[in-house]
Amino acid sequence: MRTTILKTAEIDGIGLHKGRPSRVVFRPAEGPTGYRFLGQGFAQPLPARLERVAGTVRGTNITDGKNTIYTVEHLLSAAAGLGVDDLDIEITGEEPPAADGSALPFAEALRRAGLREKPDQERGTLSIGGQLEMEKGDIRYLARPMKDGVFIKLTYDHPHRLVGRQTVEFLLSPDEYLVRVAPARTFGFSHELEALKKAGLALGGSLDNAVVIAENEVLARNGLRFADELARHKLLDLIGDLALTGLPLKDIYIEAERPGHAANVNFAKLLLEKAL
Ligand SMILES: [Zn+2]
Repeated sequence: MRTTILKTAEIDGIGLHKGRPSRVVFRPAEGPTGYRFLGQGFAQPLPARLERVAGTVRGTNITDGKNTIYTVEHLLSAAAGLGVDDLDIEITGEEPPAADGSALPFAEALRRAGLREKPDQERGTLSIGGQLEMEKGDIRYLARPMKDGVFIKLTYDHPHRLVGRQTVEFLLSPDEYLVRVAPARTFGFSHELEALKKAGLALGGSLDNAVVIAENEVLARNGLRFADELARHKLLDLIGDLALTGLPLKDIYIEAERPGHAANVNFAKLLLEKAL
């Protein structure tokens, strides 16, 4: 059966990339409608689906041709990570609040709202029948069926001497997600910040909502939350991007090396193509 939330919950803040005030209100969804954004000026709800992806630079953006919503992945990650299938997301502004740079505030809001099962609505899932691989340059994904559950192994690496190679692996469950994945914050390298801001990105970015890796130190409010926080955040992003398939993963083992939003979206399309 499908799951939505019991009551509404909201989050206020500023958007990470645009730096403007923003608010989302999570509302229960009565139908089997997946994740949908609603906003003033939207003729119709905008489904958070792969075919609506309009850009993947530093975040995943979706559009209906008229309205674009930026940086949807952290919010979607929280919903998918907690097993929410149907959610109406009322948004004011062009992107969800950056919050603390992680998915935790979204996850906590959803938990506060409480989950509600819809016994009369059947829940589709995404599984595959055989192994599949995707490679582009040094980016690599692999997926294969497994017995019970969803296991993701993810490797992030960067030549910066304070980063190096980080690998995380989790058998995912809502509780595991909430404790070990959702709190991992987004990050950036200080040498890239100026270029990002010139390109109109990261305008709302600060140590309140991101870990910043400077030449000789890692700047993180109250220190890093996990030694491998960067890789965990990449996992959080991957879960958010895969949520755009509209189907929860089932009985699948996934490996991702050096994933990014563009590749995540392509991998999500491949999974959907090969789905049973
Ligand atoms: Zn992210």
